[in-house]
Amino acid sequence: MFEDLSSKLDKAFQSLKGEARITEVNIAETVREIRRALLDADVNYEVARQFTNDVKEQVLGSDVLTSVNPGQQFTKIVHDNLVETFGGEKADIAQAQTPPTVILIAGLQGSGKTTFTGKLARHLKQEHKRNPLLAAADVYRPAAVDQLKTLASSIDVPVYSIEQKDAVRVAKEAVSMAKSLALDTVIIDTAGRLHVDEEMMNEVAEIKEAVNPHEILFVVDSMTGQDAVNTAKEFNERIDYDGVVLTKLDGDTRGGAALSIKTVVNKPIKFVSTGEKLDALSPFYPDRMAQRILG
Ligand code: GDP
Repeated sequence: MFEDLSSKLDKAFQSLKGEARITEVNIAETVREIRRALLDADVNYEVARQFTNDVKEQVLGSDVLTSVNPGQQFTKIVHDNLVETFGGEKADIAQAQTPPTVILIAGLQGSGKTTFTGKLARHLKQEHKRNPLLAAADVYRPAAVDQLKTLASSIDVPVYSIEQKDAVRVAKEAVSMAKSLALDTVIIDTAGRLHVDEEMMNEVAEIKEAVNPHEILFVVDSMTGQDAVNTAKEFNERIDYDGVVLTKLDGDTRGGAALSIKTVVNKPIKFVSTGEKLDALSPFYPDRMAQRILG
């Protein structure tokens, strides 16, 4: 994950470390290299520009140039700004005061929603001792319902589905069922389409209206580059979600775009998915991601 970006940033820092004396000129050159590395990793242009401007301003405004260890201080400023770009603190998902907690999963078709629904259920069950019910509200593709049922049975979690193609009804009835079975969490997997369209957005908005979820998570394929950022914006304008799930970060190369989402949309990244298997999910820690990128 982000090996290319890491090695380019490392190279940028190396050139600074090799200098006998660090001056404003080589700071400017290093900052330019950092910007290039970010853009090569497909970080959103505006985010990369703002990031490098902030770093430069902070370096020149501090005593880095005259300090004993300028290289190290410079790296720290870059690290801290990366953490900020990724959202600062780790953001948790909401929990209802009176169960069940209702979590709505939205995103384009193929983004990894159904897989994530299974992963989240497993995560909540194993790490938080919760008892989830999955709601199969992707009612148009029988394969999606089957996929959810297979995932659910492998982690021993119940699924609510109906024959009728009525996503709002599935969602509502699943919440009632969780109440009657005393299950503390409902995760609703919704239908996506290949592109943002009115019908899909209306349906997600209707489900939102009907069940009033405590948490709406927007799932996005990191490999789609700047499209990921645009889709994140469109979904946010329409359904005002609470957090972002980045999938397929194992695919790498263009993942930088997805990491720009927090700054562009101002919604926290809450989970990252790094593979097809159910255990390939981690909560998102901005500081750990920054650390990883800086090596
Ligand atoms: P949905 O249409 O949004 O429900 O997407 P699916 O959950 O069906 O996922 C689409 C494809 O992406 C499937 O083949 C998944 O196995 C795969 N997938 C999901 N998450 C990841 C991930 O983090 N990494 C990789 N490499 N593949 C993933």
